[in-house]
Amino acid sequence: MEEKIRTLLEQAKAELKSVANIQELADLKVKYLGKKSEFTALLKGLGELPVEQRPQMGNLVNAAKVEIEDLITDFENQMQAKELEEKLKKEKIDVTMPSNVQKIGSVHPITKIIDEVKDIFIGMGYKIADGPEIEKAEYNFDKLNTPKGHPARDLQDTFYITEDIVLRSQTSPVQARVMETEKPPIKIICPGTVYRSDSVDATHSPVFHQIEGLVIDKKVTMADLKGTLEMFAKKCLGENTKIRFRPHHFPFTEPSAEADVSCFVCGGKGCRVCKGEGWIELLGCGMVHPNVLRSCNIDPEEYSGFAFGFGVERIAMAKYGIDDMRLLFENDIRFLKQF
Ligand SMILES: [Zn+2]
Repeated sequence: MEEKIRTLLEQAKAELKSVANIQELADLKVKYLGKKSEFTALLKGLGELPVEQRPQMGNLVNAAKVEIEDLITDFENQMQAKELEEKLKKEKIDVTMPSNVQKIGSVHPITKIIDEVKDIFIGMGYKIADGPEIEKAEYNFDKLNTPKGHPARDLQDTFYITEDIVLRSQTSPVQARVMETEKPPIKIICPGTVYRSDSVDATHSPVFHQIEGLVIDKKVTMADLKGTLEMFAKKCLGENTKIRFRPHHFPFTEPSAEADVSCFVCGGKGCRVCKGEGWIELLGCGMVHPNVLRSCNIDPEEYSGFAFGFGVERIAMAKYGIDDMRLLFENDIRFLKQF
């Protein structure tokens, strides 16, 4: 029997050397250590031996089994390590390969202008104010000296949600809301999206952006308005920019004016951008109408103020030489990545 054990052991060792993969190793394990293996048969056969030989033979069989088991385990570990190494080699990152560059967008020209204007006015001590885009007609019109029957309230100009609720046609309702809740001195700008019932063309869009400014304090005059706008124009459009006022009419300011800036392309000589005028229309402005102050619970005898407002698209188009407003809303990255 001893002979038989030794032969089996040698045979197992020899077969182990030719094992090529995990599956073959598993087969080998079953063959030598499984329930139907020859070792198991040997153990079962111990009962037929003389009693005094049984312990010794039992030990021999078990020792051989342990030896084979250890060899198989060692071999298995080696194989797994080798497999892992090969896997790592295959998955290694080649740092010399060209990478997939993430495309980083650019800031939209509208956002850029809004940010620039905000910075300029924050530098002059203004606060940024915000308000709802779906607004009560009361705030969009009534409180701004635009009572019922006023042509600006026409269905042709404004999107109505109900009779009393509109998509704000200007950012001025934010001014009314601030005047109602805050005590003067007030110094704010309100940037935001506004809506008007315009058809889309090169210079019109039913959705556009406005920035309005409002200052309310004691003894605020038209001179303060002009100085402020001059400062803004120089910072936004260049140090040599000049500003001029033309009389105009707005329901919420009195007196009212439209402000032009000297063309920042030709400096006033006349060119394509200013259509030969030398001036570019920039914004509407004026001294806040006493009726507006009153409807927002501010005493016009004690306080005065100025307001101004302009379209962000117009500034962006002038500043970047864009000749069609639709380009700003088409989201064509070939256009947008230029900014
Ligand atoms: Zn010009």
